[in-house]
Amino acid sequence: MEVSALYNSKIKCPVCEATIEYTKVRSKSIRLIKQDTDFCPWYEGENPVFYEAVICPECGYGSHVTTFEKINRYEKAKVKEIITPKWTKRSFTGHRTIEKALEAFKIVLMNLTSMEAKKSEIAKICLRIAWLYRYEGNKEQEDRFLEHALKNYKIAYHSEELSDGKFDEYVCMFIIGELSKRLGKLSDSSQWLSRLISCYSDPSQKYRISSRLIETTRELIQEIKDIKANQQAEGA
Ligand SMILES: [Zn+2]
Repeated sequence: MEVSALYNSKIKCPVCEATIEYTKVRSKSIRLIKQDTDFCPWYEGENPVFYEAVICPECGYGSHVTTFEKINRYEKAKVKEIITPKWTKRSFTGHRTIEKALEAFKIVLMNLTSMEAKKSEIAKICLRIAWLYRYEGNKEQEDRFLEHALKNYKIAYHSEELSDGKFDEYVCMFIIGELSKRLGKLSDSSQWLSRLISCYSDPSQKYRISSRLIETTRELIQEIKDIKANQQAEGA
């Protein structure tokens, strides 16, 4: 008998206190094939990214799965004031298509803007929405959300304490450089990526930066040089 790749977990909604169910992908069913340089993962079979947006079917509160319980009093009040009154009760459990995943992530984005969440969290959700459009092959919408992600990561870099697990100021610099390149802002991209290389050559910072990140950074810088050289050759 084939075991389903999906299962439901229970959690208490911190806003309305209902016990709700949300769907997860079994870790042994996850098959990563490749990852893009902006960390977008490609899977064979169920894609766990689709399930990272957890929504309370009762009150409409939603967040990234890793932060569902991390909500303060002010934010709860904002959800109750702005989200819940307009909420139509509906379920988000079970298999998700790209469309259903997009719906869930956009609800999370509405929650984050309503509660005036950190820009780094808003950027993270915008980046995932861009990935969902990439899976679908919708380049126009992908770029639109990459722009939102880039704008919010830049504000976060200058105004937030970035030390949330694996996401620190260096990964933030990298992602700003990467997204700038992806959106054709080559000079901006070179500046951010070169700044990251400079940090790596500083002994007091070097140990905080992963060598793999630097390797990818160097590849991207080379790629930009090649694009610029090609553009000049074509212009000549
Ligand atoms: Zn709720």
